[in-house]
Amino acid sequence: MGLAPLWRLRDKPAPSAEAPAEAESAPQSPVDTAAGDERSRRIAALGWDELRATVADCRDCRLCERRKQAVLGVGDVAADWLFVGEGPGAEEDERGEPFVGQAGRLLDAMLASIGLARGKKVYIGNVVKCRPPGNRTPEPEETTACFSYLRRQIELIRPKLIVALGKPAAETLLGAEVKVGAARGRLFDYRGIPLIVTYHPAYLLRNLSDKAKAWEDLCFARRTMEARDSATLPPDPAP
Ligand code: SF4
Repeated sequence: MGLAPLWRLRDKPAPSAEAPAEAESAPQSPVDTAAGDERSRRIAALGWDELRATVADCRDCRLCERRKQAVLGVGDVAADWLFVGEGPGAEEDERGEPFVGQAGRLLDAMLASIGLARGKKVYIGNVVKCRPPGNRTPEPEETTACFSYLRRQIELIRPKLIVALGKPAAETLLGAEVKVGAARGRLFDYRGIPLIVTYHPAYLLRNLSDKAKAWEDLCFARRTMEARDSATLPPDPAP
């Protein structure tokens, strides 16, 4: 049916947090030195309280310099659904919660459209926990530095389904280049967890005509969750 996972996460995302430093000009940080392995192991052993404290104090990439606070995520820590966006914006940086601005209100509406609500079997997080200045797209070294935290969140939550909101989230989780338009309607795999790709709500606010596609993606996600619960294959996505 063409719905088998198309891509599987590589053992290590590219560029990898565990990869050795490859260029002399690359900035030295705990994630591109031998200390990176130790850092990854330490993060992989953290519980929720330690993870919150570690992220709050983290200075492992330059995004720490202009943040007001790090934003780990929000919601049910035993959620079935995990939505992953890109990074905090201005309001999120101010309030310490992801998706609380205009895009957040749209995300809440999207959740409601398929019978979900923030915090009720739903967890919402981001690829990077600190606000990129000017809401720019996170740089690869920043997503690499922060990925250990997201990976640990996923291990702790153990969601039944992941929805990647936008290209940076999809590429970080899949460890591959992703075109959202081409990835929509397909079922991917993150370490045994089904993963679906759709548009980021901030993109939808600028491209209203694509809201209908996001609705299709959410319906596909809903069907995938129902199929997972009943241990059957999901039907084909809407054309
Ligand atoms: S974005 Fe992530 S890695 Fe960078 S300082 Fe913030 S918490 Fe640390």
